[in-house]
Amino acid sequence: MVIMLKKAFGIVVMVWFILALNHVTLQAAEIDAPVIVVIDPGHGGVPGETEANGGANYHDVYEKDLNLETALAMKKELEEYQGIEVYITRENDVEMSLKERAEFAKEKNADMFISIHYNASADHLFYGSEVWISAFGEFYANGYGLATHFMNQFREAGFVDKGIKTRIGESGSDYYGVIRHCAEFGITGIIVEHCYLDDDVEFKNVDTVEKQRIFGVRDAVAVAEYYGLDKDSSPEKIVPAPDISIPDAPVLPDDTEPQNIVCSIQSFDEKTGSAQIIITAEEKESRILYYSYSVDGGKNFSRLSLWDGEDTMKLEIPIGKETAGTLQVRLYNNYNLKGDSNLISFDYRKKPQKSDKKESYDLEDAYEIKILPDGTEETETTVLTDGTEMIDIVIIILSLIFFVLAGVFVSLLVAMHWNKKMSR
Ligand SMILES: [Zn+2]
Repeated sequence: MVIMLKKAFGIVVMVWFILALNHVTLQAAEIDAPVIVVIDPGHGGVPGETEANGGANYHDVYEKDLNLETALAMKKELEEYQGIEVYITRENDVEMSLKERAEFAKEKNADMFISIHYNASADHLFYGSEVWISAFGEFYANGYGLATHFMNQFREAGFVDKGIKTRIGESGSDYYGVIRHCAEFGITGIIVEHCYLDDDVEFKNVDTVEKQRIFGVRDAVAVAEYYGLDKDSSPEKIVPAPDISIPDAPVLPDDTEPQNIVCSIQSFDEKTGSAQIIITAEEKESRILYYSYSVDGGKNFSRLSLWDGEDTMKLEIPIGKETAGTLQVRLYNNYNLKGDSNLISFDYRKKPQKSDKKESYDLEDAYEIKILPDGTEETETTVLTDGTEMIDIVIIILSLIFFVLAGVFVSLLVAMHWNKKMSR
């Protein structure tokens, strides 16, 4: 009886403890209505007057202008929801420092600061959507929770998910100024990079003001979903979801490229000129996002394609009919860090026939390389520059040895015969 009572008491304590824990988590994430959100259209002002004013500049547009169109549309849409107050750092094409933007958010007593941007890369390689958040504590947790809704919106619109990421500066704090300054004021800040202006395919999604506003509406839906807002009913309590647990230590970005990249040619289709290849690689800290390949030994690479394997991917790549070259595969993780595979020489040109054997061979023809199924190379028959194959020489030498031995044998027989005669 006593044991049963003890057990029951234990269960009650456990249930209470679990409920209490849940209660604490719920309390921590709850916000008094209305939630206060500051939207920040990135950049602004006369391009060139400061390095940051124009933002990315491709296809005859400045990022600052797209940011403003998207941000204004986001504000307009978000204001239709109940339980939220929305502010914007700039409504015109004006210059603003990063510190001023964060100070604006502090003035408004903001719960969340959302900086609106479009992307570009130095080598014009990448495409997709990404969100930058703080690496630290509650700013990480809140930023990550909100960012999941942005990524949902972008994936739904057909964009590639480049991830929700942190970046650390030299001082060991958040790299991006608005995120860092907001955190100093106790505000969660995130940077939304919608898509790449220097990617021709993605640019088609933002090449009109109407399209830039569609992004703004998606941004508003992301915020409304995170805070559980409704257009018709005013919430009593605002409970953001998902509720991400607060990390004990800074969540550091991946600073290493994909490792151990090995590719091998499985087969080659002479009719289509395409090769079946297998690539294996390791990426423990983040994820492999793109691949590209070179058939000229790494001088030129194809446009980035999406990696859709875990640590192995099978690919069919067009290398051309009756061609020779050197294959290399390059992989990028979602932090834009790249790693290169081994090099594989291939030669699928028609082999010269015995009858029309060339008078002389150039250096490239002096050997033939066969790709084994495991990707290693095997040098086949060595060919001398005058066209005589090694095997011919071996046969000649063997014949000579045979004749010499035969001669010696016959001489011995004759000598023995004479010896017998003499001894008689
Ligand atoms: Zn920007």
